[in-house]
Amino acid sequence: MTQIENVMREGRVFPPPPEFSARARVKSIEEYQQLYRESLDQPEQFWSRMASELHWFTPWQQVLVWNEPHAQWFVGGKINAAYNCVDRHAEGPNADKAAFLWEGEPGDTRRVTYRELKTEVSKFANVLKGLGLQAGDRVAIYMPLVPELAIAMLACARLGVVHTVIFGGFSAEAIRERVNDARARVVITADGGWRRGAIIPLKANVDDALADGACPSVEKVIVYRRCGNTIGWQEERDLWWHDAIAGVSDDCPAVPLDSEHPLYILYTSGSTGKPKGVLHTTGGYLVGVYLTSKYVFDLREDDIFWCTADIGWVTGHSYVVYGLLANGATNVMYEGAPQHPDFGRWWSIVEKYKVSILYTAPTAIRTFIRQGESWPAKYDLSSLRLLGTVGEPINPEAWIWYHRVIGGGRCPIVDTWWQTETGAIMIASLPGAVPQKPGSAGRPFFGVSPKVVDRDGNPQGPNQGGFLVIDRPWPSMLRTLFGDDERYRAQYWSQIPHVYFTGDGARYDEDGDFWLMGRIDDVVNVSGHRLGTAEVESTLVSHPLVAESAVIGRPDEITGEALVAFVTLKGNVEKSAELRLELIEFVGEQIGKFARPQEIRFTDALPKTRSGKIMRRLLRKVATNDPSLGDTTTLEDISVLARLQEEEE
Ligand code: ATP
Ligand code: MG
Repeated sequence: MTQIENVMREGRVFPPPPEFSARARVKSIEEYQQLYRESLDQPEQFWSRMASELHWFTPWQQVLVWNEPHAQWFVGGKINAAYNCVDRHAEGPNADKAAFLWEGEPGDTRRVTYRELKTEVSKFANVLKGLGLQAGDRVAIYMPLVPELAIAMLACARLGVVHTVIFGGFSAEAIRERVNDARARVVITADGGWRRGAIIPLKANVDDALADGACPSVEKVIVYRRCGNTIGWQEERDLWWHDAIAGVSDDCPAVPLDSEHPLYILYTSGSTGKPKGVLHTTGGYLVGVYLTSKYVFDLREDDIFWCTADIGWVTGHSYVVYGLLANGATNVMYEGAPQHPDFGRWWSIVEKYKVSILYTAPTAIRTFIRQGESWPAKYDLSSLRLLGTVGEPINPEAWIWYHRVIGGGRCPIVDTWWQTETGAIMIASLPGAVPQKPGSAGRPFFGVSPKVVDRDGNPQGPNQGGFLVIDRPWPSMLRTLFGDDERYRAQYWSQIPHVYFTGDGARYDEDGDFWLMGRIDDVVNVSGHRLGTAEVESTLVSHPLVAESAVIGRPDEITGEALVAFVTLKGNVEKSAELRLELIEFVGEQIGKFARPQEIRFTDALPKTRSGKIMRRLLRKVATNDPSLGDTTTLEDISVLARLQEEEE
C-alpha cells in the first residue's frame, strides 16, 4: 500500500481580496489557467516570450534540449546574471533606486543604490580577476548578512566564477567539507558578524577550517572588516577587502556567458541526510527566479521587499539576490537575530522601511506566536500588502495567526513550495488570482508539472496521498550534483523512472490545490494507516496551548509503528501529566483513535537545521535511544539533542 492518508480537515478558504486582484499582475483564476496552459502546451512560445524580458548578449537557438536527466535551457544563448541584476538598472530612471536597504544588528544602516552596486560589483570583480580567477573557477563565500555578501556573489557572476555560499552560522567542519567538495580557490569572509549582540568569529572559523593544509585548493582569503574584532592573519594568504579594492578600476564589463554556464553550487539544508551540492546554471535559473519573483510576489516598481532568509540558503540566493535584483526591486536586508534586542525587532524594521512584502518561514512565525501578540502590536504594519512563507508546511493555525496579526486580515499569503534543487518557487497560488487555503501551497507555477504518484509511478486521484514528482524539466532545475552525477541520477531520477523525485509526500484536492504532507522519510504506518507527520503536527499546533510539535514513528510490536510527539508549549504554559493526556485525546478526537500519539514528550526546543527546519531523523533516534546520529553538521544547536535525551521521564 503506497497511499498516504489525508487526515487533516482544514477547509477554510480565503479568496483574493478584490482590491488586491484589481491591481495584480494576474487578476483572476481564468487568467492564471490560461497562462499555465500555454506554458505547458506551447512551452517554446511561452518561455521565449518570458526569457526575452531579460538581457541576452546573444539570443538562444533552442529553448530546451532534454536528455533525461540532463536539461539545457536557452541553448546557444549568451547571458550574464550580474548584468541583468545590476547593469540594467544602474543607468536610467532606476540608477538611484535602492537595491538594498540594509540594517545591521547594532542599528547601523546603509542604503545601496543600483548605481553604487554596479561600481562595487565591478571593482570587486576586478579584484577577483587580479587574483587570476577565471570563468569556471570556484570561490567560497562565508560572510555575515551585509551588502558585500551580495556584491561578492555578483562579482563572481560577472566573471563566470562559480560561487558557493556557506551560511555564516556554520562551523569550521562544515566550511571545510564544502570548500573541499567545491575545490574553491578563494574564500571570501569577514572578521566577524553580529548575532544576538555577540560577534561570530567568522575569520577564526575559516582559519580553523583551513588549518594544517586541510583545504589544499585555497590560495587566498579575502576578509571584509565588519566588526573590528581581533583576528589571526597569514600574510601570504590573507587580504583585506578594503585594501584589495583601493584604487581598483570600477570598469569591468560583464562577461557574456553560455546560458548553461554554472552560476553557483549550494548545499542543501541537510534535513534528511548529508547535504547535497546542487549545481545551478545561468540562463534557465535566472529566467526562473526573475519570473517567480515578478508573479508570485506580484512585484511592483514601488514595493519594498523583505525576505528574512539568510543569503546562505537558496531562498536568499533566489529571493534576496538574483530574482529580486533581476526585477530591479528594493530589498531590505537585516544582519541579525529576530529577538535582538527583543521580539519587536522585525516589526520595527517593517515599520521603519515600510516593507510591503514580507517573506519568511513557518518556524519564525511559530516562534513569534509563542511570544504573544503584544510584540507586533507595538508597531505599524500597515505598509504590508502581501505575505509569503517557505521552508516547511505551514500549520493552518500559524497561517491564520500570520494572516490576522501580521497581515491585519488584509494581506494574501503565498505559501511557496520549492527546494534548493528546484532553484525557484514551484507551487504557490498567485495572490491576486487563486483563493488561498491555510496549509496548502496551492497551484503549480507556469511550466511546472507536479504529479502525485504511488511507488510504481501510477497517478493518484484527488486527496489520495502519494509521492510528489515533477514530470517535465523546468528552466531553473538543478543540472547535477557538483562532482557527483551518479548521486544526481540516483537521488532524483531513479526512484521512480522518468520523473523528478522530490522526496516529499503530497496530495492534491478537488480544486487542484497541493497539500504537502511531509517528507517521504517521515510517513508513518500505524495499524495499517499511512500518515504524513505534517498533518498530525498541524493538529497538535491547533491546540491553544501548543506552540510547536514534531511527530515521528517508532517501531511498535502491535501497531507496526507508534507515534511519538515532541511538543513545545506556548509562553508560560506548564507541562503536566493532565495536559499530556489531553493532547493525546485531542488528536484522537480531531483525527481518529489510530492517530493518538503513544507518547508525548514536552521539550523547550526541537532540533532544527540552521535554516530552521525540524530534523525528524534525529528525533527518531532520540525516541528509539539510537546512539548513531548520522550527519549533524547542519544541526543548529547540538545542546538541544542532549536536552531531549535528558528530558525523558
Ligand atoms: P536535505 O535535502 O539536505 O534533506 P532540505 O530538503 O531541508 O535538506 P531545502 O532544499 O532547503 O533542503 O528544503 C526543501 C524542502 O523544504 C522541500 O523538499 C520540502 O520538504 C520543504 N518545503 C519547502 N517549502 C515548503 C512549503 N511551502 N511547504 C511544505 N514544505 C516545504
Ligand atoms: Mg531536500
